[in-house]
Amino acid sequence: MLVEARRLYADYRHVGTVPRDLHRALSIKALEFIVVNGETKSGLTSRADWDSYFMQIAQVVASRATCDRKHVGALLVRDRIILSTGYNGSIRGMPHCDEVGHMMENGHCVATIHAEANAVLQAARNGVRIEGADLYTTASPCWPCFKMIANAGIKRIVYGEFYRDERIFEVARKIGILLVDLSPLPADAKHTA
Ligand SMILES: [Zn+2]
Ligand SMILES: [Zn+2]
Repeated sequence: MLVEARRLYADYRHVGTVPRDLHRALSIKALEFIVVNGETKSGLTSRADWDSYFMQIAQVVASRATCDRKHVGALLVRDRIILSTGYNGSIRGMPHCDEVGHMMENGHCVATIHAEANAVLQAARNGVRIEGADLYTTASPCWPCFKMIANAGIKRIVYGEFYRDERIFEVARKIGILLVDLSPLPADAKHTA
């Protein structure tokens, strides 16, 4: 059964997406639970797996965001080392949305630079190579950010919730970027309530 689960996981990697429950099941230590109960469970170990660890850091980064329409945090990571961080905020030197209000266009605030873009820019400012890195972001990338991430050479995107643009799934599959959905399972929501 464990071998079967791993093969399934490999298949999903191949097509470019990993369902969140399968990913979660395989990233916890107690894999036997898949075998014994035939269902996935989480919260069986007190030590966070790497994806959860980096996603929790991304959530802390998001707490620095300055557009209260949505707070997003992002990390670029390679070989379990954080290369850069970013959160959504105004152009350097310009006032924050939270102070002067938003710049609305077609229902979206366009004053800010998004978290993923700021993570790429922070790496650029510091001369850090990001090709082949993983991106952790609390919300799945919007279309402009996705295009930038793809051409920056990011190979895996782990996101904490789905945000707005479905086009990323099809294109990620075509160009070989793995998307991992780490949004909370209903069982987790009940657990933390
Ligand atoms: Zn704003
Ligand atoms: Zn974006």
